[in-house]
Amino acid sequence: KKLGIALVGLGGYAGGQLAPALQQTQNCYLAGIVTGTPSKADDWAKKYNIPQKNIYSYENFHEIAKNPDIDIIYIVLPVSMHKEYTIKAAQAGKHVICEKPMALNAGECREMIAACKKAGKLLSIGYRLHFEPHTIELMRLGQKQVYGKVKSIDTGNGFTYRGDPNAWRLKKALAGGGGLMDMGIYSIQGSRYTLGQEPVAVKATQEKTKPELFKDVDETVFWELKFPGGQKVNGKSSYNHDWGYLKAEAEKGNFELSPAFGYGGINGKVNGNAMHFPQINQQAAQMDDFAMCVLQNKQSRVPGEEGLKDMMVIDAIYRSLDSGNWEKIS
Ligand code: NAD
Repeated sequence: KKLGIALVGLGGYAGGQLAPALQQTQNCYLAGIVTGTPSKADDWAKKYNIPQKNIYSYENFHEIAKNPDIDIIYIVLPVSMHKEYTIKAAQAGKHVICEKPMALNAGECREMIAACKKAGKLLSIGYRLHFEPHTIELMRLGQKQVYGKVKSIDTGNGFTYRGDPNAWRLKKALAGGGGLMDMGIYSIQGSRYTLGQEPVAVKATQEKTKPELFKDVDETVFWELKFPGGQKVNGKSSYNHDWGYLKAEAEKGNFELSPAFGYGGINGKVNGNAMHFPQINQQAAQMDDFAMCVLQNKQSRVPGEEGLKDMMVIDAIYRSLDSGNWEKIS
């Protein structure tokens, strides 16, 4: 049986990536939508052949509990709405995928994990790269110490923001932060999955060249992570630089991905030689895997706890920006 997914929030990512990917999935399909905009509901219903009974607004969202067509609810809303809708979805008896960053802070992530556990529903975060072949190879090279221990990591992720100056992404109350929350999260997680360890402390600095645009959120952030193994790990995030790489130096070799974090193609090198893996539809692989987890009642490889770990690092980076000191990650 193909499981039914309902997308909540029909913005750029839902429309540009997730809905098209759901035309390629084997274990799940686009069964329903939740939107506050009636004209979008009509367009989507026509385009994706979605029956009226599977279309919800934010006001009648709770009625989704009675709909047997919907097995999984995928939250693709501004970050400030992730907690509320994840908890509502679990309480409606549905399994949940929530987009990154999981929530505004680690405290909210813990509430979401607890609510899904209480409802007996699986929770997964939209971390598509865990299903991407070059990334899986990077994890193997680092975690299995194929070229010896990784001594250092240098990683950055960002883009030059040219969008609407009034968009939710630039409002702290809605986004939780700027480039760090949206883009830096990939570099933070990349460091964690390359080493297969959790960082214990962080020190961060920031740069603002466009204070009128980024008056409410961070523009460019630099950080150094302390890992238990003493590796040198530097990261950076930005809404004003086009970055997207991760380079690892090990005792007996080096490996890197560049681009490392997007969905327009990942490239990898090992000791200067190109990796050869297929480019896949990451979102289709991610959603198919979660549907299989639901069918087999097993935890996703990217559960809520994985989202929480990244948010604990991000919270500590913001504390470090305030204090100017090393901050513990806990
Ligand atoms: P977007 O602005 O394009 O879409 C957001 C949607 O939420 C819109 O349809 C909007 O109408 C709706 N919405 C409902 N209430 C709103 C409110 N109060 N204010 C603003 N919008 C409201 O954003 P997006 O780029 O689709 O991002 C949505 C989520 O997906 C974010 O968490 C983002 O980080 C994530 N995302 C993930 C990836 C990835 O590769 N995993 C890529 C892009 C975005």
